[in-house]
Amino acid sequence: MKITFLGTGTSQGVPVIGCSCEVCTSLDFRDKRLRTSVHLEVDGKSIVIDTGPDFRQQMLRENIRDVDAVIFTHEHKDHTAGLDDIRPFNFMHKRDMPIFGRQQVLEQIKREFSYIFENHSYPGVPKVQPVEITNQPFIAEGVPVTPIDVLHYKLPVFGFRVQDFTYITDANFISEAEIEKIKGSKVLVLNALRLKDHISHFTFEEAIEMVERIQPEKAYFTHISHQLGCHSKVEKLLPPHIRLAYDGLKIEI
Ligand SMILES: [Zn+2]
Ligand SMILES: [Zn+2]
Ligand SMILES: [Zn+2]
Repeated sequence: MKITFLGTGTSQGVPVIGCSCEVCTSLDFRDKRLRTSVHLEVDGKSIVIDTGPDFRQQMLRENIRDVDAVIFTHEHKDHTAGLDDIRPFNFMHKRDMPIFGRQQVLEQIKREFSYIFENHSYPGVPKVQPVEITNQPFIAEGVPVTPIDVLHYKLPVFGFRVQDFTYITDANFISEAEIEKIKGSKVLVLNALRLKDHISHFTFEEAIEMVERIQPEKAYFTHISHQLGCHSKVEKLLPPHIRLAYDGLKIEI
């Protein structure tokens, strides 16, 4: 399985519009973070988790020529706003895009992208095939996926485990039962927003503690704010088996 970090930034992205802090003005390419998303190549399939506002740019940058399915973690705009840009895949491959999400995610997508779901829709609108998921293992275009039910303040969010890879973005609470489902993963991705407390995201310290509890071989942090600091400095604070992810990072398991 090959994993590509399409974006590793928090909801505003890094740099933040109008900000002149050390991170936002850094020349290090690892301090340029598009909105959080990953691409998985697994069993010959191409799967994207979340289509944030930078989806088009991410597909172009990574030269991704087909996507077999989109899986949504939750309904926040920084994870859904790019859905319209699946259209080239509809046109090229002449098929609807399966989109997997829990009921409330699919409902919100139907409200926010109502033009996609009209009976007599305008020619050229995205074509999607919504598939509702619950906290039970499911198959996405032939690929087995196990949801991990986490909390993002009070909002239920799904992380996903695919083989030995677990991806959790936008969370600050994982129950014991869900931690058990993650254990044994070789690679764990977790959100680590910043150093200071936050109402709905793990801080840097909380994310490190969670990695120590789950004990994956390797962990990567994502959904990073400019408030966390420069990539090169922050990474020095981490043990070798925990790294900050950055846009374009590729790993193989
Ligand atoms: Zn987010
Ligand atoms: Zn800044
Ligand atoms: Zn969110």
